[in-house]
Amino acid sequence: MNPATFLRVLGPEPWNVAYVEPSIRPDDSRYGDNPNRLQRHTQFQVILKPDPGNSQELYLGSLVALGIDIQAHDVRFVEDNWESPVLGAWGLGWEVWMDGMEITQFTYFQQAGSMSLSPVSVEITYGLERILMAVQGVNHFKNIQYSPGITYGEMFLENEKEMSKYYLDSATIDRVQLEFDLFESEAKALLQKELAIPAYDYVLKASHAFNILDARGAIGVTERARFFGRMRRLARECAQLWVKTRENLNYPL
Ligand code: ATP
Repeated sequence: MNPATFLRVLGPEPWNVAYVEPSIRPDDSRYGDNPNRLQRHTQFQVILKPDPGNSQELYLGSLVALGIDIQAHDVRFVEDNWESPVLGAWGLGWEVWMDGMEITQFTYFQQAGSMSLSPVSVEITYGLERILMAVQGVNHFKNIQYSPGITYGEMFLENEKEMSKYYLDSATIDRVQLEFDLFESEAKALLQKELAIPAYDYVLKASHAFNILDARGAIGVTERARFFGRMRRLARECAQLWVKTRENLNYPL
């Protein structure tokens, strides 16, 4: 969902980027009890555009560079296509499993913002907590050694507990619904002003408000389809506007 991914996979220009991204999923709230599913985990996200043709080898090499003995672990690629109905995005891909736990998702993006992509980009999303658990041989995220003298649990367990309570039990449904409407209107106003990046930022805020309502159990089946439609339309308009905007940027082709 980061604009460095969603917007930059559009258009023909090469784009190679890697960054750390906190990934917040209200629906994955587990009050900190689940050993490897957090409402906020950390991804290392990579975009390779165009596809270099050897991304699996590059990926395995990156695990080795992290100090992981890939012969000593059971590393498998399992087919798993990816789709985001909110972003109008999908791709073909695999999950990477290490010792029975999914640690990474590989996707060859075919579409973003409901637009076909050419060239196709490769996205690699490393799940950093899960990789650390495997590397450190711990069986719960709270036991990860975060840095000398402090564990992941000491840093973030209370955050997991309280944010889970907020998303699952305490979010004020009426207010979050109003937030969704406000964020959507702001996105529309910014699209009118031809500002693709801030408009997209508001699409992300709207999507987060939707995710809170969803985790809180406030969204029925038909409403859900309607919400997806509203967000997908905005994401498509941001993508179309960005395709135009980027034509005026001087990229090497
Ligand atoms: P799932 O299907 O398990 O919900 P996903 O396939 O949607 O997860 P991706 O978006 O592909 O997950 O995320 C990339 C990587 O981030 C995953 O391979 C996994 O290692 C890690 N990850 C995803 N969700 C979580 C989470 N809630 N807590 C910890 N790590 C996660």
